[in-house]
Amino acid sequence: MGSGPTAAGEPEAASERSYLPFHRPSIEEEDLAAVRRALESGWLTHGPLCREFESAFAAHVGADRAVSLSSGTAALHLALVASGVGPGDEVITTPLTFCACAQVIEHVGARPVFADIDSVTMQIDPAQIERRLSPRTKAIMAVDYGGHPCRIEEIMKIARDHGIAVIEDAAHSLGAAVGDRVVGSIADVTAFSFYATKNITTGEGGMITTANEELADRVERLRLHGIERDAWRRYRQGGSWSYDVAELGFKMNMTDIQAALGLSQLRREDAIRSRRAAIAARYTDAFALLGDLVELPVVEEGVRSAWHLYPLRMAGGARHGRDQLFKDLEHLGIGSSVHFTPIHLTSYLGTRLGYRRGDYPMSEDTYSRVLSLPIFAAMSDADVARVIDAVTRLVPGYAG
Ligand SMILES: *Cc1c(COP(=O)(O)O)cnc(C)c1O
Repeated sequence: MGSGPTAAGEPEAASERSYLPFHRPSIEEEDLAAVRRALESGWLTHGPLCREFESAFAAHVGADRAVSLSSGTAALHLALVASGVGPGDEVITTPLTFCACAQVIEHVGARPVFADIDSVTMQIDPAQIERRLSPRTKAIMAVDYGGHPCRIEEIMKIARDHGIAVIEDAAHSLGAAVGDRVVGSIADVTAFSFYATKNITTGEGGMITTANEELADRVERLRLHGIERDAWRRYRQGGSWSYDVAELGFKMNMTDIQAALGLSQLRREDAIRSRRAAIAARYTDAFALLGDLVELPVVEEGVRSAWHLYPLRMAGGARHGRDQLFKDLEHLGIGSSVHFTPIHLTSYLGTRLGYRRGDYPMSEDTYSRVLSLPIFAAMSDADVARVIDAVTRLVPGYAG
């Protein structure tokens, strides 16, 4: 006889041993059925389901137009091109974001200029944006770190005063709101991601929303080789073989397979977000008992967060607390992650743009102390309790 689990107490034992990943997407029967229907329709690439997803998405966030794309990175990229950002221009963004933000700015020939974060909210700081404005500033790429909206209204005002565009990176913040304004209806252009780890997913995928018809039309053209609008229709009954290429475009369209999954996921977005918010509330209640050993993520007055991340910061004094907590959680079978390595500290852009450690102290300080805990809709109450138990037992050991 081995030492395998016996029937009694097995669920307990199994849950102790099974790995709780940092993230697991919520895939339900209805998602599988929707993708199956798309596959069986015979129309696999960009088509009517993309159109349907775009309409439903625009309505969901209160935007006039939505344009589906192959990724969140493509959304940011085409948002820049369609906003007229190009060689010689500067775009202000936060160092505490995914590298894609700076990469797309580089790809259009512009220069990423970083504005440090606010140390309390971890969001790009409007006062730091004002310090970095120059005659070459063409746009601000404002990121909603963790799903909590950045100070988008203040940022819009700065942009209006200086005649520059605001692109909001809402990869984390689907369903978030500032007052009664939903993210996607506030900035000049908003970019969403449906990457596998995001709040709703299409595997890979993205979307821009805007109230600017001309900009939306331009993104529609750019995403499919610069061919004039609705070129995909040429393979449908009544379609025409002729087309014109109006400008230098890209191959960045979504497919109907992705859109089918996106439509199905979007119907559960409210439920997914409520579950994430409930998990965040339980974490915050429990970790408040750790006092000043940790710094909890804050939600600003009048704001609704999409709770994409739960970024817990160790106290400033516990120098190696974060790295140790990551290892100890891993040892207990709990996945976690760090968001993000500040872009100016990564080798390619850091070297190319001549940035050094110390240039953005607030972002660097958060980076050294922050750990993103598991937060996803498919987590059970027992999973949440397991994380709470582990963190509250481990953290006091790192103090001093
Ligand atoms: C995920 C992410 C992106 C890129 O989205 P993809 O769909 O992976 O291309 C951009 N910005 C932020 C902040 C992200 O987290």
